[in-house]
Amino acid sequence: MPFLAQEHFPLSNEDILSWIFDHVKYDWDEPMYIDALKPERSISARQAHKLIRQLAAGFKALGLQKGDCVSIHSFNDIYYPIFFLGVVAAGGVYAGTNPAYTQHELTHTTKIAKVKFVLTQPSLLNNILKAAEDNGISKKNVIIFNPDGHHDPGKTPEGFLQWNDLLLHGEQDWVRFNDYDKAYLTGAARLYSSGTTGLPKAAELSHLNLTAQHMLVYEANPKPWKVKRLLALPMFHAATAPGAFCTPLRNGDKAYVLPRFDPENWFWAHEKYQITDLGVVPPIAVMAINSPLNKKYSLKSAKIGACGAAPLDKAPQARMQALLDNGAPLTQVWGMTETSCVATRHAYPAKDNTGSVGWPLPNLDTKLVDDDGKDISGYDVRGELCIRGPTIIKGYFENPEANARDWDKDNFFHTGDIAWIDPKTKLYYIVDRKKELIKVRGFQVAPPEIEGVLLSHPDIVDAAVIGVPDPVREGGELPRAYVTRRDPNGSKPTEEDIAQYIKEKLASYKRLEGGVVFLETIPKNASGKILKRILRDQAKKEMSSG
Ligand code: AMP
Repeated sequence: MPFLAQEHFPLSNEDILSWIFDHVKYDWDEPMYIDALKPERSISARQAHKLIRQLAAGFKALGLQKGDCVSIHSFNDIYYPIFFLGVVAAGGVYAGTNPAYTQHELTHTTKIAKVKFVLTQPSLLNNILKAAEDNGISKKNVIIFNPDGHHDPGKTPEGFLQWNDLLLHGEQDWVRFNDYDKAYLTGAARLYSSGTTGLPKAAELSHLNLTAQHMLVYEANPKPWKVKRLLALPMFHAATAPGAFCTPLRNGDKAYVLPRFDPENWFWAHEKYQITDLGVVPPIAVMAINSPLNKKYSLKSAKIGACGAAPLDKAPQARMQALLDNGAPLTQVWGMTETSCVATRHAYPAKDNTGSVGWPLPNLDTKLVDDDGKDISGYDVRGELCIRGPTIIKGYFENPEANARDWDKDNFFHTGDIAWIDPKTKLYYIVDRKKELIKVRGFQVAPPEIEGVLLSHPDIVDAAVIGVPDPVREGGELPRAYVTRRDPNGSKPTEEDIAQYIKEKLASYKRLEGGVVFLETIPKNASGKILKRILRDQAKKEMSSG
């Protein structure tokens, strides 16, 4: 029997914009989004409201139709959340891409999210423009965002629409609704995730997914202080997107934005702005505890800390906790793009030093299933964690095959993560991963994507990619490839040739830093499925023998 939610928090059926702006209880003129490096650049709720209404009119004047997808290909900026809200206000759907993506990756993401318009920065234009061309998107629909050249010294190219041209069409109200079906079914964001298997897919987050995520994380568990957050993780990722796009304006929380992660700026900004709510991913936690910068700057303003996106061992968790040094809890959260970010957490003020990811948010049902998908829910057993509720996406955009595979008849989403629940505390622990996903420095790496690139090499006939432990970053993983050359006795391509080939096609965190091993044949079962378990065992032996 599934574990049904014990607590039900009332949610909203409003569209995101009405849910934000029709209930403002804070000072409209206070700076809300603040550029951490140039604090005179800021946006208040009043300015955001106007900009969003202008963008709604501007996108419509450009030809955006209901449901059209606008891809934002940009580093973090105080305007990034405003663009998201402007797209949604016009009735569109946003898609966010990693600025590190190559043309090869962007061609895929642009295609699967059915992108119609692109908003990008000058220095990122090259790859996204080629990807747009590959997908038949006219140059007229590529908009350049370079508010003052501060974060992007790339020269503003001529002949393109500039983002502020969109503000010249007056103001228009956003597309409003207050209806469960519309809130549940209307897409607001397409975020890329490979899910349990295969290539990256466009996970479609609805208005309800995003408003529920905020309400269940923050409003169901309010904190007794005025929140100040640093937005340093990339906004295209589910770890930041819901919190960056919805939370500041809904709550009146201050959000200090860093264009991209940098250790010194990250430490400095925490101290300078007295950040109250600390959000980290394991590689940042490991950097923070090992860096001499932790002596130069203090993180003591934090009243709460959360770490998620990948597993963090108990030991580094305790050392990170010590850096807060003021009794503030530093706990782990678990979630996925498909759960609109956080799905389990330790409700404030709970503390934890056991490595647990806490309890499910209110309104979420869970169950554990065995390898055949049979419900084995119970305490003290390991099973694949399945989850259902208002923050779980209803599916991947236009991908009926993946949707049929990953959601069962009771509408539970099968996460591919293996969990164990403590019989005494009812705390959840993520103990393994059934899916082949690799997490490199907090980013998703889908082995089939790398395998696809390897197989496109003329001298490679077979390939399999697995994750191996990162020898430098505690608890981290790196991709390692097993490769069969066309001439199994030959010496070409070499590991360097392959590295060069991958570099041209994939973002840097997908490079084969875990090594390349040449095999005569890749182990497979009778139906041709790669036996990755065998390769994982082999990797363990290879690594232990140096
Ligand atoms: P993403 O969709 O990029 O956020 O990746 C989601 C995946 O990251 C999950 O399915 C887990 O495999 C992993 N993950 C996220 N948070 C945790 C955590 N606290 N502990 C272990 N794995 C995690």
